[in-house]
Amino acid sequence: MTTPATDAVKSPTAPPPDQAPIAPSKDASQLRQKRMIGEHFERLERAPEEGNKVVYTFVPGNLTELMGALDLLPVLPEINALQSGMRGKSRGYISEAEKSGHSEDVCTYVKCDLGMKKSGNISPTGTKLPDPDLLLLSYTGCFTFLKWFEILREEYDCPVSMLHVPYQADGKITPEMRRYVVDQLERDVIPALERQAGKSLDMDRLSEILELSRQAEDDLVAVWESAKHKPSPIDGYFGGVYYVGPIFSAFRGTEDAREYYRELRAEVEERMAAGRGPMTPDGELTEERYRLVVEGPPNWTSFNDFWRMFSREGAVVVASTYTKVGGLYDTGFRHDPDRPLESLAEYCLNCYTNHCLPNRVGLLEQYLREYQADGFLINSVKSCNSFSVGQLLMLRTLEERTGLPGGFIESDLVDPRYFGKANIENRVQSYLQMLASHQKGPKRRTA
Ligand code: SF4
Repeated sequence: MTTPATDAVKSPTAPPPDQAPIAPSKDASQLRQKRMIGEHFERLERAPEEGNKVVYTFVPGNLTELMGALDLLPVLPEINALQSGMRGKSRGYISEAEKSGHSEDVCTYVKCDLGMKKSGNISPTGTKLPDPDLLLLSYTGCFTFLKWFEILREEYDCPVSMLHVPYQADGKITPEMRRYVVDQLERDVIPALERQAGKSLDMDRLSEILELSRQAEDDLVAVWESAKHKPSPIDGYFGGVYYVGPIFSAFRGTEDAREYYRELRAEVEERMAAGRGPMTPDGELTEERYRLVVEGPPNWTSFNDFWRMFSREGAVVVASTYTKVGGLYDTGFRHDPDRPLESLAEYCLNCYTNHCLPNRVGLLEQYLREYQADGFLINSVKSCNSFSVGQLLMLRTLEERTGLPGGFIESDLVDPRYFGKANIENRVQSYLQMLASHQKGPKRRTA
C-alpha cells in the first residue's frame, strides 16, 4: 500500500508520459519532490560501489527515521509496483510472476515486484536497484507483507528483521502494546540495523530527525485541512497521493521533506486565499459541484482516466483514507523527538492498515461531517484484502449514520485486467447523478 513518489509521477499537474499531457507546473514543491526522488534513486544505484547499505521495507509502519539515523537507504517495493503500474509495465511484470506460479488471487503489488525483479530490477526512473542488505518487515495489519518478504527472502541472500505490531483489535493502543513494540525495537530491530550500518544508533541524531518529521507532519495536516474550505484548494485523493510521496517513503525526517511540506502548505494556502480549486489532469477545476470522501486505494494503471471521471464532473475528493495509509497525522499523531522509540512504536500501531473496522468507519464518518461532504465512494480493489474486507458493511453503516449516499466501484491496483473503464465510468456517473438529485432533496440509495 503506498503512494507515487518517483520521477514517473512528477506532480498533480504533470502526469506520467503515457497519459495525456497538461500544462507543466513550476510550483517549488513539485520541482523539489522531483529532484529528491531522482537523487534518491541515483544514490541507490551507486550504493554497492559506495559501500552504502540498502534496506527494503514497507510503507505502513516504515521506520525511516531509524534508517536515516544510521545512514541506511530505504527501498519501498510497493512504490516501485505502483510506479510500474503508472508506466504501463505492470501487465508484463504480473504475467512474469504468474508464469512462475503465483496465483491470480495474489496481491498484484507482490506479483508486480517479483516480475520487476525477474526483469532486471530497474527502478521507475530507469536506474538499477541494488539488492537488499536487509529486509525490514514492520508488520502492520496486512498478512501479505509476511508472505511477500518470505518470497523475497528466497530471492535474496540477506537477513530479515521483523517488527510485530499488534493489531488494534479493540480500537485503541494500550501501554502494553506500545511497550511490546518498543522492546522489539530495542532488542531486535535496532541491533539488526546497527549490524548493517556498522555503527551504533546515536539517539540525539534520531531525535533531531524526528523533529524534522514532526514539522513536516504539521504542514501536511494543514494541507489536508485546507479541503474543509469551500471551494477546496486541493483534491485530497487524486492530488493527495502526490502530497504523501515524500512523507510515506524515503524522505520523512530529512531537511528536504521538511522544506517540501513547508512549500506545499504555502502554495495550498495561497490557492485557498485566492478561492481557487484544485489542479486536475485538465488544469484547474473552476466549479466544485460535489465534495466526496473516498475509501480505498486508487487504480494506478489508468490513474488519470480515473481522476477525470470525477474532475470533469466537478467532483472533488475532500478527504480519503488511502492517503493516511502511511500515517494518520490528522487525528493528532506526531513523531516526538522527546520520546523517540515510543513515538516510533505509536506510529506503527496507528497506521490505517492496523486499525479495526469500527475505527475505520468512525474515521470516514468524521471526514464526512468535518469536510461537509455530499457523499462517499468506495473503490474496492481486488488485490488488497487489507482494505477491501468489510467495505460493504462500511457502506451500509455510513449511509445509516450520516444519511449520505454511498457509491461502490471495483477495480485493482496495478493489474489492468481489472480496470473496466466503461463500467467504472457508468457507475461513477450514475453515482454523481444520484448525488445531484440528493442535493435537491435527500434520498438514501446506493449506486
Ligand atoms: S494486500 Fe494491500 S496492504 Fe497488503 S501488500 Fe497488498 S496492497 Fe499492500
